[in-house]
Amino acid sequence: VITSPAAPARRGRRCETCALPAEVRTQIETQLAEGWSYSRIARIPGAPSRDGLRRHVESGHLAPELQRAAERAHGLDRVSLAGRFADAARRAREVSLQAAEEGDGPLVLRAIDTETRTLGMLATLGIEREHDADLAVTARDVSHAAILAAQQSPELAEQIAVELDRAGRSDLAEQVLEQFQETKAVSA
Ligand SMILES: [Zn+2]
Repeated sequence: VITSPAAPARRGRRCETCALPAEVRTQIETQLAEGWSYSRIARIPGAPSRDGLRRHVESGHLAPELQRAAERAHGLDRVSLAGRFADAARRAREVSLQAAEEGDGPLVLRAIDTETRTLGMLATLGIEREHDADLAVTARDVSHAAILAAQQSPELAEQIAVELDRAGRSDLAEQVLEQFQETKAVSA
């Protein structure tokens, strides 16, 4: 292995990922381009933190072909992100209608819950809508419900953290994961 000096972070700012040995950095950038979550990569021993990885991608430090793939995978494009949420909400609505026709009450409730969550995510993106105010209230209530649920289910907490990471809110993901780790520590 050739010990080449690590590439410096741009504009003199320290970047954990840029500071890695070239071989490790390339491996991590490939994983980012393949759509591995920041959380998943951050769990690898010696890997940068989730925030560090996110900054590396959002600051455009990757090689051009990997940069584009990583941005697509991590949904940095707000329009594509909003489109995915809107699509998920529409599909949940369809499931809800179908379940109601079939008299499946529990499925109706789950579909409504999913639809509400996706609409809430649209609201947190600041998407302009006729019922923007209603969505903001919904987002607050859904967020509260999600936090309560995450406190009771480590698995759910991790899923929420991954989605928050994808939505560019790794700061919130960090908080959810901290709660998850506390829960795990207490129950262990
Ligand atoms: Zn970097």
